[in-house]
Amino acid sequence: MPCMTSQTSSKAPFQSAVCIVGNGAIAKTAALGFAQAGHSVTLLVPPAPPLADPAAGADDAAWDARVYALNHTAHTLLSTLKVWGALDHDRIAAVDAMIVNGDGAQAGDLAFDAFGAHVGALAWIVEDRNLNQALDAALRFAPHVQLVSGRAMRLEASADNASVHLEDGARIDSSLVVGADGGQSWVRGQCDIGIDYRSYHQRAVVTNFACAKPHHGNAYQWFTGAEGIVALLPLPGDRVSLVWSAPDALAETIMSESLGELAVRLAVYADDKLGALRPLQPETVKDLPLALIRPHTIVAPRVALVGDAAHVVHPLAGHGMNLGFADVADLLTAVAAREEHRSIGDERVLARYARARKEDILLMQLATDGLARLFATDLEPVRIARNLGLNLLNKLPMLKRRLMSHAMGK
Ligand SMILES: Cc1cc2nc3c(=O)[nH]c(=O)nc-3n(C[C@H](O)[C@H](O)[C@H](O)COP(=O)(O)OP(=O)(O)OC[C@H]3O[C@@H](n4cnc5c(N)ncnc54)[C@H](O)[C@@H]3O)c2cc1C
Repeated sequence: MPCMTSQTSSKAPFQSAVCIVGNGAIAKTAALGFAQAGHSVTLLVPPAPPLADPAAGADDAAWDARVYALNHTAHTLLSTLKVWGALDHDRIAAVDAMIVNGDGAQAGDLAFDAFGAHVGALAWIVEDRNLNQALDAALRFAPHVQLVSGRAMRLEASADNASVHLEDGARIDSSLVVGADGGQSWVRGQCDIGIDYRSYHQRAVVTNFACAKPHHGNAYQWFTGAEGIVALLPLPGDRVSLVWSAPDALAETIMSESLGELAVRLAVYADDKLGALRPLQPETVKDLPLALIRPHTIVAPRVALVGDAAHVVHPLAGHGMNLGFADVADLLTAVAAREEHRSIGDERVLARYARARKEDILLMQLATDGLARLFATDLEPVRIARNLGLNLLNKLPMLKRRLMSHAMGK
């Protein structure tokens, strides 16, 4: 990351064309994108929590439990920003096929593969740490980026600029504030943007396993009905990464058990395809609450929301981060295409950004929410219909190709 800056109230405000609030992959990508397009950027990150034990850093060799299936949109943007080449490629697995299984006696199935889609890979499984390390390294060399660490207290927007006031009295002035501060976005709250929120009453349990049989680059997903949605994504070598979107009570039970017991639970689904599973690092299991968050708008005067600040979707399609990358790409495009007399935070520019994103976000919200709800019910007629649907879709190559193209971000 660039040098950290701090400032007291007596000093002049920080000035830049863009102020990006957030410290995740989407905020860093937006910062790089604006900087590489020639705009000055202030990246506002929260103050780092003190380390309890300075020696207790993350083990770099260990496999990160947070992984993302990144699609072609993400690949293209990260390649343009020269981040993709800086990733540790020994730790990335290409997804060659996706195999989706239904539930019950008439379990349907659906398969997509890279060969059928005429691409080298459907997606790439990348660890959160690998992605963030590459972004941090790129930011260190990015021109015009200043990193400010502080707690934001107030956001004010006027006709031609916006100011973010920090707890220590400092101020960041810019033409545009980008809210990339996640699902609980402070920026969104400051703009009084309302949200629709619905809990899925599920938690995603994530961890990694070694598998006895090779995965051949296959990503497996089981819609189980009562037990939620189990996904095993390929990691390099004979390893897989689990994302189990389990109903709250089941997730709680899983988290109270050992990873050996979790492997036994998974054998019901995975034994056939992957053989016995062996926990990779018992300490890396995590569980995350799942909810749908739909802000009523993704722009406000001098403000644009990107990433989870703009939409939180169920992870069953592995698309939240990909939507965020597409937000950044479309925001950069809207800014680059503006008329000469318009500033980068101009109302029209932001309206074009919001329009460009509308369909993509809505489709992903409807698709993921619809599937999550469809497969959450245990009613037999619904179960039969959804499995028939999977089988039918598998036999409709045109529709399947269109669905796949959209999922790949092509
Ligand atoms: C189990 C699971 C699996 C997933 N798998 C996939 C997948 O395979 N593919 C995919 O595309 N997506 C996936 N997603 C979605 C993906 O994780 C998110 O969409 C993505 O992490 C959002 O990134 P973000 O940077 O917008 O938000 P976050 O990662 O939440 O980052 C927000 C950042 O903002 C900072 N912040 C918060 N408040 C402030 C503030 N006031 N000031 C400054 N900074 C602040 C936080 O510290 C944080 O660093 C998955 C999600 C889950 C839960």
